[in-house]
Amino acid sequence: MTPSHPLYKEPAEAELVVVGKYRQTGREVKLRADAAEALLNLMTQARAVGVAITPISGLRTIAYQETLFRKAVAKYGSEDAAVGWVARPGHSEHHTGLVVDLGDEDDPACDVEPPFEKTQAFLWLQGNAARFGFELSFPRNNPRGVNYEPWHWRFVGTPEAKQIFQK
Ligand SMILES: [Zn+2]
Repeated sequence: MTPSHPLYKEPAEAELVVVGKYRQTGREVKLRADAAEALLNLMTQARAVGVAITPISGLRTIAYQETLFRKAVAKYGSEDAAVGWVARPGHSEHHTGLVVDLGDEDDPACDVEPPFEKTQAFLWLQGNAARFGFELSFPRNNPRGVNYEPWHWRFVGTPEAKQIFQK
């Protein structure tokens, strides 16, 4: 989804709820209230069965995405190489405030890395996230050609949220 999408709008500060802090940086992770409520519920239920899911990144403004994208270009050598890993500013699902990157609290080395799919957190999410309105945005071999991101989940638990991600 891009800012030209008819339903696109960056959420206002008043619509946001802090769902936690990324344990590596201390940066607050914020989501839109509807997604935040669903995620907090999800994390509580997971913890009840011994699975510790931790939020890594939620809402990102276009300005913040710009800094991430520039870092990716430096790391991967070109803009074309970087876009497989970090969306261009203005093109990230994270701008909606309905998307969250999740990690396993006990496995920081797997944060936003493909081996996250082997963690307890991912296995639990795979079987349970849909009950809370979350789905994987970029499964393997997704039609958009984005690299597989087992940590990146979007909230489609309301008709409005669902509509935002419809192409
Ligand atoms: Zn993400």
